[in-house]
Amino acid sequence: MTVCNEVRSTITLDQVDAESWDIVVIGAGLAGALCARQAAAQGCRVLLVDRAVFPRWKVCGCCLNGAAVDVLARSGLGDLVTDCQAIPLSGLHISSGRRSASFKHNHGVVVSRERLDSALIQAAIDAGAEFLDRVNAQVQPIDQRQFIIELKGSATQVSVTAPIVIAAAGLGGRIFSDHRSEHREVSTSSRVGTGAVLEECPPEIEPGVIYMNCHASGYVGLVRLEDDRLDIAAALDVQAIKRARGPAELVSEILQQSALPATASIRSASWHGTPMLTQRRARVAENGCLFVGDAAGYVEPFTGEGMAWALAGGNAAAALAVQAIESGDTVTVAEQWRQHHREMIVRRSRTCKAISLGLRYPIIPQLSVRVLSVFPWLAQPFIRSMNAPFELKTIAEPA
Ligand SMILES: Cc1cc2nc3c(=O)[nH]c(=O)nc-3n(C[C@H](O)[C@H](O)[C@H](O)COP(=O)(O)OP(=O)(O)OC[C@H]3O[C@@H](n4cnc5c(N)ncnc54)[C@H](O)[C@@H]3O)c2cc1C
Repeated sequence: MTVCNEVRSTITLDQVDAESWDIVVIGAGLAGALCARQAAAQGCRVLLVDRAVFPRWKVCGCCLNGAAVDVLARSGLGDLVTDCQAIPLSGLHISSGRRSASFKHNHGVVVSRERLDSALIQAAIDAGAEFLDRVNAQVQPIDQRQFIIELKGSATQVSVTAPIVIAAAGLGGRIFSDHRSEHREVSTSSRVGTGAVLEECPPEIEPGVIYMNCHASGYVGLVRLEDDRLDIAAALDVQAIKRARGPAELVSEILQQSALPATASIRSASWHGTPMLTQRRARVAENGCLFVGDAAGYVEPFTGEGMAWALAGGNAAAALAVQAIESGDTVTVAEQWRQHHREMIVRRSRTCKAISLGLRYPIIPQLSVRVLSVFPWLAQPFIRSMNAPFELKTIAEPA
């Protein structure tokens, strides 16, 4: 059964044109939707736009870690994961070749992106934000006081202005027409993401357990979703995908070599890809345009923290944006966001980066799995640090 949490536009392109906006948020994934919700709850006129129709599926391992659940709770959305029927995490099963290790992992939940993202957009709408789907947004060259944002629907195009733009367009989103403003530094060793969802989940895949397989060509994660579909998400070497003649072939090969249950329908599933995963913007803010979530930068997903970084970023950027609107100073907000982002996200992503680099050497996952199969408790300090709450001062709690 496929989940269906439809969220509709609350405004039309013509109506958008006639309104004035404090903040335009581009991208209604987790970073954008939470930012819109927090800013609207503080009384700002917020327009949230996305080119997709929701619910929308995206390549993701669907594991919302403990830090992410904590950000939602501290944003006043403590019931959201329960309302989404998210499955509490209970274990992690890692394999490398035929060896595997299982241990306790009871921080966070598994929830489909269709359900989670739609619920968060609905929360933004409930807080007073206007939402517009099926619209591609493009920001005109940056000006110090006001941005012009072109919104292109299937038949109409309008321009709106706002002093603050939140750029939450994800890894592959493009919001500027000139290439210089879009420039990102991409790691030369980066892998690409790929994923699919299968309607049938093998019975061996237990609810609440993450099944992770490491291989010389990348890694593949499997989880059972709340509606009993199987989510498959992988980070793979581009050359290995080419050699295997496609992601489905490579994922099947990796699962067959491991102790993980493979399923025949992997090859017939519809596979989607992502751009290079490890990349970042040199500057995460330009005047009043703040880049949040994957749009600011991302590191390979082995530790499953991307959604936590997106939510923490969305929350913190909203607090700064609201302050800037209230004070009328939309210039210093850029420097404040660069500093917040460095302290809150970049520092935290270093462990993830180090682990991703270590996984390039097959001996490291092989040895780690061998050691963890005998001493599973050794994994606990890592699991705890990945799931630790973000520092309080950077997260705006509801008044
Ligand atoms: C293989 C893989 C597995 C992962 N597994 C996990 C995991 O288990 N746990 C975890 O925490 N994280 C995981 N992640 C990371 C996680 O998916 C991302 O970090 C997270 O989705 C980032 O959210 P976001 O809001 O920044 O961007 P997104 O969720 O990508 O949202 C961006 C939105 O912007 C819209 N958009 C783009 N351009 C425009 C435009 N010009 N105009 C209008 N709309 C636009 C898009 O339609 C999209 O809806 C994984 C990632 C990959 C690739």
